[in-house]
Amino acid sequence: MPIYEYRCENCESKTSVFVRTVSSPVDAACSSCGSKEMTRLITSFGISKTVSDVHEAFSNPNSSDYYSDPRNIGRWTEEKFANMGMEIPSSVRNMIDSARDGEMPGAAKDLQPNVNEI
Ligand SMILES: [Zn+2]
Repeated sequence: MPIYEYRCENCESKTSVFVRTVSSPVDAACSSCGSKEMTRLITSFGISKTVSDVHEAFSNPNSSDYYSDPRNIGRWTEEKFANMGMEIPSSVRNMIDSARDGEMPGAAKDLQPNVNEI
């Protein structure tokens, strides 16, 4: 289940919001002051140990194996935006999320070495 983090524009507090699906609209309100002037921060997904293992194994985006795992899709983009302190545009966000949600060939789930269909 994704967790969205928001920063309050009013008091700078951070609020975490659980959402059911990545495409759900989120009605975030500050947990400190109740303001709805919230800026979304970089999303942290609940990442399993397996996935972090994968990320370690395929941490080099220049490797052709890197993108054979759907869970790596968009990681580079996310890091780019994070480095710039920017929010990912929702169109990009949705693309990444749906790709990770399996709108890609599913064989990579099993980490088969010969997946090149992406
Ligand atoms: Zn606030």
